Amino acid sequence: MTSSDASSASPIAPSGSSHPSVHFGFENTYARLPERFFARVDPTPVTAPGLIKVNLELARSLGLNPDELASPEGVEILAGNRVATGSEPLALAYAGHQFGHFVPQLGDGRANLLGEVRARDGSRYDIQLKGSGPTPFSRRGDGRAALGPVLREYIVSEAMAALGIPTSRALAAVTTGERVFREAILPGAVFTRVAASHLRVGTFQYFAAQGDTDAIRTLADYAIARHYPQAAQSSHPYRALLDSVISRHTRLVAQWMLIGFIHGVMNTDNTSISGETIDYGPCAFLEEYDPLKVFSSIDQMGRYAYSNQPLAARWNLTRLAEALLPILVEEAGSKEAAIASANEALAAFDPQFEAARLAGLRRKLGLFTEQAGDAALAEDFLKQMALNRADFTLTFRHLCDAATGKEGDERVRQFFTSTGSFDAWSARWRERIAAEDASPQTRAAEMRKANPTFIPRNHLVEAALNAAVTRQDFKPFEELIDVLSHPYQDQPGRERYTIPAQPDEAVTQTFCGT
Ligand code: AMP
Ligand code: MG
Repeated sequence: MTSSDASSASPIAPSGSSHPSVHFGFENTYARLPERFFARVDPTPVTAPGLIKVNLELARSLGLNPDELASPEGVEILAGNRVATGSEPLALAYAGHQFGHFVPQLGDGRANLLGEVRARDGSRYDIQLKGSGPTPFSRRGDGRAALGPVLREYIVSEAMAALGIPTSRALAAVTTGERVFREAILPGAVFTRVAASHLRVGTFQYFAAQGDTDAIRTLADYAIARHYPQAAQSSHPYRALLDSVISRHTRLVAQWMLIGFIHGVMNTDNTSISGETIDYGPCAFLEEYDPLKVFSSIDQMGRYAYSNQPLAARWNLTRLAEALLPILVEEAGSKEAAIASANEALAAFDPQFEAARLAGLRRKLGLFTEQAGDAALAEDFLKQMALNRADFTLTFRHLCDAATGKEGDERVRQFFTSTGSFDAWSARWRERIAAEDASPQTRAAEMRKANPTFIPRNHLVEAALNAAVTRQDFKPFEELIDVLSHPYQDQPGRERYTIPAQPDEAVTQTFCGT
């Protein structure tokens, strides 16, 4: 589909050669778990696979050969038309609370875990196809994904990675040559996702709902071995597992808040055990700062509004604690002791989250030391930004320039209709930073590492998706990915990617990626 892609010119038929040359080196530890953890199911072939993109840098870091992946045979694998050597495709079983309502069986209804690979750094990653056809968990769904949502997940997950936020990654995207039927008829696509694992809070809930304590224990042991090996050394490994997951999510959600990210569907089935951002659906980034902002069309009650995200995360982790309770009881010796232990673990959420958020706010404001008034200074800035509906990203980015001298204030002031409120705050901030002996240049440079200039602005994402879906033009998609790969660097000539949407371009609502 891109200019460099020869394979999209002609559809590739399944060849069935017995000498495949695409090497993944799959390990299949999940496939060794009890059979009730998943369904063994191969991807369903598509009519005409066409390569959109292979993520070269990610492929290399995983020890994969991007040229092999982009070869006709690689594209067949990425489309689900061929099962790679060593792959044992699975659809994972899980449950989940969706907008507060428990669904005892969800599972991968349109995804196949192909297997796990070892990255160059030694860590293990899942390789999963999404949109690869129906599975026993599809319920009424068709098992497919539309091109737009696939490109959205590609763009946003890669942007998050470049911003330094734990996330699943995009290894590749292919077109299927088939149509999917949603509100409209749309081109189909398959997304290749990489994640530290696809274990979710909902995976534990699936077994908890069945009273299957053996499975909860097996899953917990697997999660510890894979993500939190230090927990195995603890006198209470399952409590340590809970503590670890909570801790990762406090930092994750703090990072979302600091960058203005709204996940949109923080259901327990979309809450990873690894502490990565997963399952990008109607996600979006704040532009005008409004703490109550909701974009998702399916979130009519604002359950997953920007400022509710820490509460939602804590709620989800409380469901994890409940699901772990049977094995926490074994470990603690009694139900009362287990509940006390789980509550103690959950009580750490708020202080850990607040500490992570405050540390991040200090970095955003260029404060190198910790002073008692810092939280109030930061909150007052955010309050003024909210009152003035200031652009979340640019206000902080321009504040970096203001760190080099008062003449920089003008660029921040433009976001405040009541400029006096900014001037008063700025005077306090200057007094605060003057108490530290860092050079203005050093401070500004450090601040630029915490305040991106490029985020996937919703209208830019929309425009890239539109060009691809309506005109088969993937250049805006390619260009946007390239811009977002260096979010903290100024990129001369690419200023238009920093600018908020014009009123007629503004995206007010996003739709679920299904
Ligand atoms: P999501 O909203 O993408 O997190 O998906 C929620 C659940 O619905 C998961 O169990 C998915 O596998 C399933 N699902 C979403 N879309 C489809 C689809 N088109 N076909 C089958 N299952 C789907
Ligand atoms: Mg999901």
